[in-house]
Amino acid sequence: MTILLIIILNAVLISTTMCLADRINHRIAVFKKRSFCLQCNHPLHYYDLIPLFSALYTRGHCRYCHAKFGLHYAFFEFFGTLIASYFMSEIIIWITFYLLLFLSLEDWHNERIHADILLPWICYLLIDNWNISKIFALCTILIISLFLVYYRHAMGGGDIPVLLIITLITPTQGLALTLLFGSVSALIYLQTFRVKHLPFVPFLYFGWLASLLIQKVITMQGL
Ligand SMILES: [Zn+2]
Repeated sequence: MTILLIIILNAVLISTTMCLADRINHRIAVFKKRSFCLQCNHPLHYYDLIPLFSALYTRGHCRYCHAKFGLHYAFFEFFGTLIASYFMSEIIIWITFYLLLFLSLEDWHNERIHADILLPWICYLLIDNWNISKIFALCTILIISLFLVYYRHAMGGGDIPVLLIITLITPTQGLALTLLFGSVSALIYLQTFRVKHLPFVPFLYFGWLASLLIQKVITMQGL
């Protein structure tokens, strides 16, 4: 019963985070009115908002105007719910998971993020992780990031707080894996879609999640 409640809670939170990102990306007031179709403005009923099932049932289309909104909602609601439910007992990872999900969706759509919402979380994590090796790792990542942003222009300024948070909550090996997975997936995307630049936060987020899951598997198998 408890597991079911955890899954339902996370499914609702994933759906709400995606809705929040959609509204901000389309410059719609967050508390303006109940959920509605972004194409035809038709208000959505409760049965249009059931995480995972509604998107699958309509095959990613609006029930009223049949405009396609995509099956990525179902994808995120399914895998996001599984991952968030799994990490719910690790509250710092769980909170970071939702913050970075929101910022990844924002970066993917706008190539800009509200990175300042991370500042209070960085302050808290800094106090919570105050030790010399973590501060050294943080300073190293900060200096490299500043070089890449302001000298090489290879990253956006919004990527810095995301990198700092991942550095603060991730062991050294996990950070190395995060950067490896994030960079390799970004390179694959650049080559596959023949684009010259991309939003990096979603790839960092993917790298972080992949490294978390790999570390969990290694820990479970006692390797
Ligand atoms: Zn519609």
